[in-house]
Amino acid sequence: MPIVTANVPGSRYAITVEPGLLRRAGSLLRELNQSDKAGIVTDTNVGPLHLPALTASLNEAAFQAIPHTIPAGEGHKTLLDLAPAFDTFLAARIERSTPVIALGGGVIGDMTGFVAATLLRGVPFVQVPTTLLAMVDASVGGKTGVNHEFGKNLIGAFHQPITVFIDPAVLKTLPPRELRGGLAECIKHDIIRDAEGFARLEKNISRALDIDVPYLTDLVVHNVAIKARVVEADPFERGERAHLNFGHTFGHAIETISHYSYSHGECVALGMVAAARMAADLGMLDRNSVERIVAVIKAAQLPVTGLKLGTKEVVDAMMFDKKVKAGKVRFILPDRIGHVVIRDDVPVEAVTRAVESLRG
Ligand code: NAD
Repeated sequence: MPIVTANVPGSRYAITVEPGLLRRAGSLLRELNQSDKAGIVTDTNVGPLHLPALTASLNEAAFQAIPHTIPAGEGHKTLLDLAPAFDTFLAARIERSTPVIALGGGVIGDMTGFVAATLLRGVPFVQVPTTLLAMVDASVGGKTGVNHEFGKNLIGAFHQPITVFIDPAVLKTLPPRELRGGLAECIKHDIIRDAEGFARLEKNISRALDIDVPYLTDLVVHNVAIKARVVEADPFERGERAHLNFGHTFGHAIETISHYSYSHGECVALGMVAAARMAADLGMLDRNSVERIVAVIKAAQLPVTGLKLGTKEVVDAMMFDKKVKAGKVRFILPDRIGHVVIRDDVPVEAVTRAVESLRG
């Protein structure tokens, strides 16, 4: 039973990764919490597939499960969609000590975390991520919240989970496009932090696509550890946590301009290709590393070319991203595989060439 520990100010929690863990979640939670109830938030896709196993394991551990289901999808990550969850839990008379569990992808994780942060001014929060992206990224770090019509994740709070239960076997039901999106984040982690991990990923990417659960278990442990280390070093996102935005400066712009016709993972994939090429263009990264980065993204069946958007539109969108500081666009660029630096002095011509290179 591999356990990664996350250590952030005021909070230290275990991230347990084990196939079949859903069936043991109740008894493990009982070791941490003595409440007689447990709230669960899930969505309309995940609920029918995985809620029964979680509910049964909670009941066996003498938790009365109080489930609440939200319509699936990023479009429902709003305050309006969240409001009924407060009604459900308050009507069930949950108390300050009652845990609230997120069972779903990053959307449910972020929304449930916000419920847990604000309900009764804060109740214990448990993450049970069911997408690869949520397992390796969103479930660790305590960033919670919802979208607003002015932009993504504009309303929220930092609220760390008390524990994270990851059952990689649930990835068997995940749509392939969602799995590939999570792989984009795994590729990102190794490019920013771990050259050896990158080499292992190059060899094994087809095992991930084939949903080889033992391999996915190792992959999740490796990636969650990278995420935990980055969060520990910068819990409130004031410095090096920005490294996690590698590929995202380009990616967010593509996501916005395409009106979400590319998935988030596909945008990050294109963004990583653009960022790697730009790093080479600026003389920071060797061509062989760029080729390896492009090849692994391609092997993960993510896009590396074929962008149908106007170059100028994409470049302009980057200027309006919420992470732009004092008019300077900040890029996270690799100077070798496994290491990145922050640059805010990139000439717009280089940015334009990098976006243009995606049109291919
Ligand atoms: P998601 O939660 O929308 O899940 C993707 C789809 O897969 C949904 O339709 C969902 O119902 C379905 N699904 C989930 N698990 C499934 C399973 N096991 N079987 C079948 N279907 C399943 O999307 P996501 O990619 O997991 O998360 C994206 C969200 O995460 C974004 O809102 C983003 O802002 C957020 N995020 C947060 C952080 C953070 O640090 N808090 C980090 C990265 C991303």
